[in-house]
Amino acid sequence: MAPAYDVIVIGAGTAGIPTALFAAARGATVLLIDAADRIGGTLHLSSASISAAGAERQRTRGIVDSAERHFQDCLRINHGTGDLGKLRLWTENAAATVDWLFENGLAMGPDQPELNWSHEYYDVARTFTPPRGGLDCIDVLLPLLQAEIDRGRIDLRLNTRMRALRTTPDGAVEGALTINVDGVEQVFVGRNTILACGGYNFSETFWGVLHGRPRRTYAYPQSMGEGLTAARRLGAYVNYTDDFLPTFGGTVDIDNPNTYWVHTRVGPARRAPWEISLNLNGTRFMAEDNPSPDARERALAAQPDMAFWSVYDSAIQRDAPPLFLWPREKIERAFASHADFRVANSVEELATACGLPPGAVALSVARYNAGQAVGSDEFGRKHMPAPLVEGPFFAVKHYGCCVVSPAGVATDDNFRVLREDGEPIPNLYAAGEILGMGIFGYAFLGGAMVSSAMTFGRLLGDRILAW
Ligand SMILES: Cc1cc2nc3c(=O)[nH]c(=O)nc-3n(C[C@H](O)[C@H](O)[C@H](O)COP(=O)(O)OP(=O)(O)OC[C@H]3O[C@@H](n4cnc5c(N)ncnc54)[C@H](O)[C@@H]3O)c2cc1C
Repeated sequence: MAPAYDVIVIGAGTAGIPTALFAAARGATVLLIDAADRIGGTLHLSSASISAAGAERQRTRGIVDSAERHFQDCLRINHGTGDLGKLRLWTENAAATVDWLFENGLAMGPDQPELNWSHEYYDVARTFTPPRGGLDCIDVLLPLLQAEIDRGRIDLRLNTRMRALRTTPDGAVEGALTINVDGVEQVFVGRNTILACGGYNFSETFWGVLHGRPRRTYAYPQSMGEGLTAARRLGAYVNYTDDFLPTFGGTVDIDNPNTYWVHTRVGPARRAPWEISLNLNGTRFMAEDNPSPDARERALAAQPDMAFWSVYDSAIQRDAPPLFLWPREKIERAFASHADFRVANSVEELATACGLPPGAVALSVARYNAGQAVGSDEFGRKHMPAPLVEGPFFAVKHYGCCVVSPAGVATDDNFRVLREDGEPIPNLYAAGEILGMGIFGYAFLGGAMVSSAMTFGRLLGDRILAW
């Protein structure tokens, strides 16, 4: 069958849309498919903080920065881990992505870029966060996409799910087998196929198989890892399965138990802590006011089940700034209905309700209180406004959680998907979260995912015909 398209892009999300736009601008005929009934993918949920060095907006604010400085700063944060080739490619090309978004109407306040506190701080303000997060990015991308569709350069098919990649007898990819919402199967043939269909963060199966853990994530429902599955069937190597850092301290959302995300102000950047954190052995494991997100994430990663209980008493509940980001009604419902939210008259009863060893919990509280009384904490905690003495006592279970899939397919610096032996699978490329967050090393680099997904998509679209 003759190829109908120069490029088939699977996934009309963060990476896939720029890929399709830049390929079309180079004159390619592009098929863009998405399993969902709308474009945008994870941008519908994402805060979409975007980091880049040397963008026009950074320069006009007088912030001195460079791609090299960004690269070195990333290595400082991730301690030299990660895919250095991809880090170079991202840091050298991210500014052009940000400039492109601004040129096409992305609007932000004069305070942007900023030093973003959700991850380890960069050494200079280089993170841009749109007021409505990813929705603002969709507002920029949609008209650009519509213009290319109107010109006939992009053929967009929504409600169209890639089920498998189609190969020639010698193993080269020549397109995709798809199924639409009515159950109709169709084969699309193209010279190059690009997997931009996101990660696996909504898949219990992937979390079990790759990480041996339950899924505790906040993710787009289409992030089922189908791109990884299709690539693995062709022998693709899946990288970064063995270690990852969780985001510090999410709880279950009682109104959406599929979702774990940050619903409390447990991090000192949001609110200096009044509570103590106890792991599943009933012991403290860090200074709760440690300001380094990286140190906090590493400490949590080392705890049993990457989980801890935030424990406080009635005086703290009454006197401290609010712990929860939820309204009072929802907090009361949580304590009345969910096993991760416990209240009891004594510390020992609370421990039993939480499934923690009562003796260990009582000792942890007593030691904290004794240190608090003299202003000297065994973990070096500085902010200790009150002891835990007044019943009833409260406990909220927190988990290390993830908004990004840690593992992903291995690719070379031209985004060709690699087999276990390091050889590329002919005509198959990948960009976006399907590469895994591991490319950024054993650390969170703030604003790296959206920025790199768009940047790699842009580069891939721009260069694929030449490659
Ligand atoms: C709550 C939240 C907050 C976040 N905040 C940030 C942040 O501030 N900064 C940052 O850098 N990152 C952030 N991230 C991560 C970042 O948003 C994602 O990593 C990134 O958007 C993923 O881009 P992608 O193109 O790989 O996937 P997506 O944008 O999800 O696009 C994939 C597309 O593929 C489609 N698809 C899936 N399977 C198939 C199939 N079989 N066939 C056809 N189509 C398919 C999906 O419908 C989707 O449209 C956040 C994520 C979440 C969930």
